[in-house]
Amino acid sequence: MLNQEVHDKVVQAFEAKFGAHPEIVSYAPGRIEVLGNHTDYNEGYVLSAAIDKGTFFAVSPAADAKVTLEALDMGETYSCDIAEVAPIKDGMTWANYVIGTFNWLFDGNPAAAGKGFNAVFGGNIPLGAGLSSSAALEMATVLALAAIYGIERDRTTLAKIGQKAEHTFAGCPCGLLDQASSLYGKAGALVKSDFRFCRFENVDLGPTVAFMMVKSNAKHALVDGAYASRRQACEDAARYFADVLRKGSVTHLRDVTMAEWVLYRGGLSETTAKRAVHPIGEDERVLQASELLAKGDLKGFGALMYDSHESSRSWFENSCEELDAIVDAAKAIPAVYGARLSGGGFGGSCCLLVDPTAADAIATAITKEYKAKFGDEPTCSLIQPSDGAHLI
Ligand code: ADP
Ligand code: MG
Repeated sequence: MLNQEVHDKVVQAFEAKFGAHPEIVSYAPGRIEVLGNHTDYNEGYVLSAAIDKGTFFAVSPAADAKVTLEALDMGETYSCDIAEVAPIKDGMTWANYVIGTFNWLFDGNPAAAGKGFNAVFGGNIPLGAGLSSSAALEMATVLALAAIYGIERDRTTLAKIGQKAEHTFAGCPCGLLDQASSLYGKAGALVKSDFRFCRFENVDLGPTVAFMMVKSNAKHALVDGAYASRRQACEDAARYFADVLRKGSVTHLRDVTMAEWVLYRGGLSETTAKRAVHPIGEDERVLQASELLAKGDLKGFGALMYDSHESSRSWFENSCEELDAIVDAAKAIPAVYGARLSGGGFGGSCCLLVDPTAADAIATAITKEYKAKFGDEPTCSLIQPSDGAHLI
């Protein structure tokens, strides 16, 4: 469904339910990770983009202390008193993203809001598909509620409010990438995040390219254990480098250069050395890629995406044969500039930088290769980097 149609549907449903036009309508998009894989917890850099699909949130203040929510896409309604806001363990867990955000907008004391609110929301991001529908819902919520209650906060603080809701109400220990990308997105541009200093800026991509997300159907077991062991290896390596480099200032792999890794890797176990070089290389690729984009070098940018995938495949070992097959198929198509796995890995999606005028041919070629190997079809969607969250 088009964004305008989703907007109209949400507003009409609000009017039908509450008998008046909503006072505030907000919009927040999902996001894609473009370069910089497993760098966030190493205090490094990521390039991402807000996508052209999102969530609309229509709201008005309530006359009393009641919060009433309707999730249009679920066909469900939830309500509670502002003094009873608490994580929902089973049943309508979608409400956690909204009431959790409300809770932390008021620093954990939602009763201080005085009055409740009436809201209807809905969107067109596929849920649980790695495009971060959860952060979109949080950011749409936080913008709309901040407006309703007259609360002014900078964007990074709003992003952190959503992240806190996700941690404590939805039970997902996510980084800040999803919320920041949803807020800081810009049409035709990427979001460059620096996770040490929580700094976010836009890097222009230009109007002639777009992304294609190719979702494999691969879901591999042991993903949680594999994620935890990768994270552990990065922390172990950072401690080792802090020791041997005697810099005193090394706390994360962000502080280690590729040259230092080459010189000192011998003191690490082979596996730990392999894991450590991935975020170190990804940080360097993000910085280099930003410079290439400033010069309009899309080919160079794409080559770094291929390097990123190769690093995932051979060093970090968070790829799988389905994702490798998508990237291999992409390499044979001239209208694809670059491709890599996107997100945690071990399944999920690949992100391709493409010439959008060739989108249909690219999707057909990749689907054909994939189907020949695995029997089923991946899902290809063209994505235009788009504006971040805003009030309508
Ligand atoms: P992702 O963020 O990758 O889409 P998550 O599992 O983190 O996947 O978040 C998906 C969850 O967010 C859904 O199961 C639902 O609880 C909530 N959610 C997101 N968008 C909506 C929506 N439009 N309507 C209802 N719930 C939503
Ligand atoms: Mg999510």
